[in-house]
Amino acid sequence: MSKKPPFLIITTMMLVLGFTATSLVSYFVANNSLNQHIRTNTLPLTSDNIYSEIQRDMLQPVLVASLMAQDTFVQDWVLKGEQDSTQMVRYLQAIQQRYKTVTAFFVSENSRNYYHSTGVLKQVEPDNPQDQWYFDIKKLPSDFEINLDTDTANINMTTLFVNHKIHDKYNNYLGAIGVGLASETIIELIETYQSRYGRQIYFINRLGQVTLKGQDFSAGEDIRQTNGLKEIATRILTSPSGSYEYSNNGQQYFIKTRFVPELNWYLIVEHQQKTEQEVQNALWINLALSLLVTVIVLLLVHFSLGRYQRRLEQMASTDLLTGTASRHAFEATFSKMLSFSQRNQHPLTTVLVDIDQFKQLNDNYGHLLGDHVLRKVAEILTDDLRHSDTICRWGGDEFLIILPECDIQHARIIAEDMRRQVEQSLQIVDGQHTNVTASFGLAEYDHHESSENLFKRTDEALYQTKSQGRNRVTDNHIQSNPKVKEAVHAD
Ligand code: GH3
Ligand code: MG
Repeated sequence: MSKKPPFLIITTMMLVLGFTATSLVSYFVANNSLNQHIRTNTLPLTSDNIYSEIQRDMLQPVLVASLMAQDTFVQDWVLKGEQDSTQMVRYLQAIQQRYKTVTAFFVSENSRNYYHSTGVLKQVEPDNPQDQWYFDIKKLPSDFEINLDTDTANINMTTLFVNHKIHDKYNNYLGAIGVGLASETIIELIETYQSRYGRQIYFINRLGQVTLKGQDFSAGEDIRQTNGLKEIATRILTSPSGSYEYSNNGQQYFIKTRFVPELNWYLIVEHQQKTEQEVQNALWINLALSLLVTVIVLLLVHFSLGRYQRRLEQMASTDLLTGTASRHAFEATFSKMLSFSQRNQHPLTTVLVDIDQFKQLNDNYGHLLGDHVLRKVAEILTDDLRHSDTICRWGGDEFLIILPECDIQHARIIAEDMRRQVEQSLQIVDGQHTNVTASFGLAEYDHHESSENLFKRTDEALYQTKSQGRNRVTDNHIQSNPKVKEAVHAD
């Protein structure tokens, strides 16, 4: 049994290590290839999709503003001296309704009037910071700009204005015209993209400041000041598109950037690298299965080892030919029985049995018949024993019996009965006249003697039996007679 636990521990360790290693390796491989896939395929694709949707959804106001700037009615009306403001107001109303914008406006360079779909709101003034946008736009190299600002017509609302420069056919500057979208509409649009694609989406201007973002935006307001991003900010702001990787607060991010010239902004699609639930589930399932297989294998190993071990132990402790105990197993039992008898001062007698002229029997009738006789003799001897008695095959044709709780007189009766049965039952074996007999030597344990001495006295008694003609029972009683007592005759 002592070899089993280390073996089981080693098997357990090998299985657990092996399974854990393969589960973890496949987990990391799956995770890596998934991240690789996101970086090289999914993220660029998402960016392209969003870009096309922006083209469709957000560039419409830019186009409308551009159309307004080209409109001959507007140019003619201004050139004619802005006579009837209602005409312009009606025009702006029509644009606002037609394109469902929240505002439509025109600011004249000549009169500085701010025309709006609800009427002439005011005159813009260079000293008013609220009107600064108008004076800035004139200096712009591009034709238009997109501006997030509070609406002059409705101060509570943040509006995304498309401010377009307007010139007459002689390229004289006439003012700024355009439309405005409610910033909520744009934010909703961004959030729709975000939930559709499961990524964070925002816009930055050419300076790296975040211009448009969803409600739950979680990065910094300026990429040049955000940890992780600031190191790559210059690269982002100098290339029309790119893929990058950065980490912030222990989190790994992939980003895909793309410059949208119509908006003059960069579109940023950001993916936070995290373990996908399915990959994580697969790891748990793998580990659970590994555990199950380990437990099953260990149970199988444990039980089959136990069975084989019991078989081996039984083989080692039993004499295969006669089914009696082997000499090896007997010795442990023998010493236990002796100490029990000594402790309790109970009698114990040993009996040594040897088949007479067995060599001759083998020579005359062959070894197989000899084996048969050995089995028969063992059977006869065993039948006469109590449960507490023990018999073992001591040598070739020799058996040793221990009779606990049995003094020499009682043992003599038992041995005599055995002797008679062998003699009577084994006259004929397998149809052959074998006349098998056996000799018996007995000794009662004296509680002061050693086991060797007891055995020596038993052997002496047997020797006496043999020398006095065999087929007898002789006892060696140490107290009454140190010499071997006279053999008791069979007859
Ligand atoms: P004695 O009466 O003096 O005991 O004479 P013996 O011929 O029996 O002499 P001894 O006890 O020395 O001989 C034992 C013989 O038993 C010798 C050996 O060939 C035989 N023998 C030992 N083991 C086996 C066995 O397993 N099967 C068979 N068939 N014979 C065995
Ligand atoms: Mg013999």
